[in-house]
Amino acid sequence: MSMEDYDYLFKIVLIGNAGVGKTCLVRRFTQGLFPPGQGATIGVDFMIKTVEIKGEKVKLQIWDTAGQERFRSITQSYYRSANALILTYDITCEDSFRCLPEWLREIEQYANNQVVTILVGNKIDLAEKREVVRQRAEDFAQSQSMLYLETSAKESDNVEKLFLDLACELIREA
Ligand code: GDP
Ligand code: MG
Repeated sequence: MSMEDYDYLFKIVLIGNAGVGKTCLVRRFTQGLFPPGQGATIGVDFMIKTVEIKGEKVKLQIWDTAGQERFRSITQSYYRSANALILTYDITCEDSFRCLPEWLREIEQYANNQVVTILVGNKIDLAEKREVVRQRAEDFAQSQSMLYLETSAKESDNVEKLFLDLACELIREA
């Protein structure tokens, strides 16, 4: 009997400006909660969640930046062996969208060229404060061959879908 309790194992890495909601997305997905207040720090390097897709067990190892993005100190080791990247911005923060090309340069420099990247516009529960229209983000994602999804970690909107879509795409490419 196999010792492995899964059919697939994928490493997923979250990147994007500080404050866009990366940690909240991970905690919503892995723990089913939205942490109150500021600073949703996870004191570990990664979280694990196993999902089932068409009868197959898919183990997701999800890496969060733990605040390192504030010091621009994310390096090759973080991107190394990532199967997928979740590049997150905040739809209520134009600045977080304008930084995306910088993140894409990092991806090009450090990630392997087979990596699957999904662009995520988070905080759609704050629709009245939206600064980045959906079409603009969709066009940008398409121009860079990225998938695109809008989420709310707070309202649990599209969070499950985000990780399941990514897992499906990774299986397809495996
Ligand atoms: P990170 O720096 O990218 O990890 O961002 P955090 O996950 O720490 O979230 C930063 C701030 O945004 C916190 O105050 C969160 O409560 C808030 N936040 C995160 N996701 C959402 C969301 O979907 N909706 C709303 N309204 N606030 C969010
Ligand atoms: Mg964080």
